[in-house]
Amino acid sequence: MLKHFHIRVNGIVQGVGFRPFIYRLALEHNIKGYVLNDTEGVTIEAEGEEKALKRFIKAIKEDFPPLAIVQEVKIEEKEVNHFEKFWIEKSRTTEKKITFIPPDTNICKDCLKEFFDPKDRRYHYPFIVCTHCGPRFSIVKDIPYDRHNTSMAEFPMCPECKKEYEDPLDRRFHTQPTACPVCGPKLFLYKNDKTLISEDIDEIVKRVYHSLKSGHIVAIKGVGGYHLACDATNNKAVLKLRERKRRPFKPFALMAGSIEKVEEFLYVSPKEKEVLLSKERPILILKEKKSLVSKYVAPDLSYIGIMLPYTPFQYLLFSLDKDLILVMTSGNLSEEPICFRDEEAFERLSHIADYFVTYNREIVAHSDDSVMFVINETPFFIRRSKGFVPSPILMKKSFPVHLFASGGDLKNSFAIAKDKVVILSQYLGDLESPVTQRVYKEAVEHFLKVFDVHPEVFISDMHPNYFTTALTDKLAGEKLRIKVQHHHAHIVTVMAEHEIEDTVIGLSFDGTGFGTDRKIWGSEFLIADRKDFQRIAHFSYFMLPGGEKAIKEVWRIGLSLLYHAGIPIEYLPFRENKPLSIILQMLEKKLNSPFACSIGRIFDGVSAILGICETISTEAEAAQKLEETALKAKNFYKLNIEPEEKGKEIVIPTEELIRKIVELKDRGIGNPEIALSFHWAIIEVSLKVVERIRESSGIKRVVLSGGAFQNRILLKGLWEKLKKAGFEVFLPQKTPLNDGGIALGQIIIGREKLI
Ligand code: ZN
Ligand code: ZN
Ligand code: FE
Repeated sequence: MLKHFHIRVNGIVQGVGFRPFIYRLALEHNIKGYVLNDTEGVTIEAEGEEKALKRFIKAIKEDFPPLAIVQEVKIEEKEVNHFEKFWIEKSRTTEKKITFIPPDTNICKDCLKEFFDPKDRRYHYPFIVCTHCGPRFSIVKDIPYDRHNTSMAEFPMCPECKKEYEDPLDRRFHTQPTACPVCGPKLFLYKNDKTLISEDIDEIVKRVYHSLKSGHIVAIKGVGGYHLACDATNNKAVLKLRERKRRPFKPFALMAGSIEKVEEFLYVSPKEKEVLLSKERPILILKEKKSLVSKYVAPDLSYIGIMLPYTPFQYLLFSLDKDLILVMTSGNLSEEPICFRDEEAFERLSHIADYFVTYNREIVAHSDDSVMFVINETPFFIRRSKGFVPSPILMKKSFPVHLFASGGDLKNSFAIAKDKVVILSQYLGDLESPVTQRVYKEAVEHFLKVFDVHPEVFISDMHPNYFTTALTDKLAGEKLRIKVQHHHAHIVTVMAEHEIEDTVIGLSFDGTGFGTDRKIWGSEFLIADRKDFQRIAHFSYFMLPGGEKAIKEVWRIGLSLLYHAGIPIEYLPFRENKPLSIILQMLEKKLNSPFACSIGRIFDGVSAILGICETISTEAEAAQKLEETALKAKNFYKLNIEPEEKGKEIVIPTEELIRKIVELKDRGIGNPEIALSFHWAIIEVSLKVVERIRESSGIKRVVLSGGAFQNRILLKGLWEKLKKAGFEVFLPQKTPLNDGGIALGQIIIGREKLI
């Protein structure tokens, strides 16, 4: 029997090929009626046999295009209209709603086939795209999302591209960045002194391959910015890149041509395989199986970050040699933002790279590669950027006004909220240098413009010296201004992701975070809801002699931990040529020695006491080396730390932990075993504390978040222990464990405080 369904689809369904998808489905299932874009999504009037309609709706829910997200499908039966055909109706816009810009994704299967097909008109054309793939976020300048508002505006479509663009049955129907060799952007190869070498794709790719194989460094303009590439199996080349980039320790990311190549030298679980092959193409951190690449790729570490090709040029390069493995690191100087403007790239990278592969289309919004790792077959973010940004995080409740949250000063990512969505920015890094601060300001401006957001509420961390705090003050002007405690934000981020409305036990283990007592927090056990929190427990405070200096010179933290534990400083390695008595005096007199209790700093100090790390060149280096040491352990010792009740708070005695570690050292136990015992001491005592909190509060839901949980032993150990003890455990899945996720929590707390 003929029926008429009125179907509403909400989610990300505009600008992603959704209407042509519906059109094709309708033809396939013999459905008559029409489809149109309106303010809230897509509306379909569908008439057909009931069975056909059911299959049609099932396909809408399950087979939608790759860049779309279907959040909700609402169906209402209506009177039969006897439509005679199916068509795409003109868009109806009555009221302004948020326009979504899809993230940049890897080249799809269909485009890849054309790219390698000598008979196709886009054979070896590096800017091949379709509705289902290619750059989006990186090329959008303004809304509405139309070609003239992207950096494709300077490339008018040729008649053939235009024909495809206008054909609802074509894969490139309404593909804004569509292009071909006749009308689109071009690739160029330059020497680092800007002399042009070639404009021919096949020549370029061969020359690049041979330069890389002979030990040169090549800057390659990708989707979100420039990569620096070199042969990962060539010690000399990798060391040269380290020297030129001024990056002694921080691991480099790799790119290999196929999953088979990755599996040859790294362990890959089924979930890890899925993540590597996903259209977002993140860098995934994997354990080394066989040493195939230079030891300087990730010095002293057994884990390596790797990704698979995602741009047509990368595919072409790797097609020349299936055994090729490249270092593909962000084109920048140590901690600066990735270079994405051509002039700037030549300026800043010409003393690092010998050659430049570039193209004449502007990157409007930059992004680094995203970074993930998998624990217990669950993927976690270390960095959420290319491929994921600006995918919205969908909420159940609407935001009453537009909001802005600045994030923190480290691993920054900010957020905006409007309607029912929060959009997190790309990774913007540490906001120390003026260059990064400028890029941050530009990114904020860009986001407010392209998402048409006019915030009424401005939220930041409560840290008085953060750049983001000061900038948010300025942006807010007379508007409402809210400041949020760092670790509360960490916990609420996870609550928002998992749609938790009531109260949880939140553990935030972190490197740093300004506390309400003006001390540095970071081993927090909170009872928290979306609006407020109560600090229930933390590790005991210790001093950081020299403040910021101690964070780089971690031996100072080692010294301080020994001092607090009443242990002679002779136990500290690295005493030579150190101003030990001055530092002891600083501690004695509490001079320029802020108090901290963060897990990150405890890791630093213990790393120094064990003689593993003296000073660091990059954040978390000491902690990473301590974890790496623990991975070599054969067994561990139970250290049994007892939490102490102090007034309303539970305090975990850091001194006791240090004394027990020194005891093990005295007994001649090896570093790997001590390091692992230390990890497990933190896990065991944390479990004890959480169990006590459950006893007194009755809360069974536990949230874990904070940068210190990027430590695999800690995350896996505590997670499994908590589950075994009957807790429901929640972790960040859509945002990074570190400060890259806190803007989401800030924005949710901000909304709660409005009410
Ligand atoms: Zn495609
Ligand atoms: Zn064309
Ligand atoms: Fe944090």
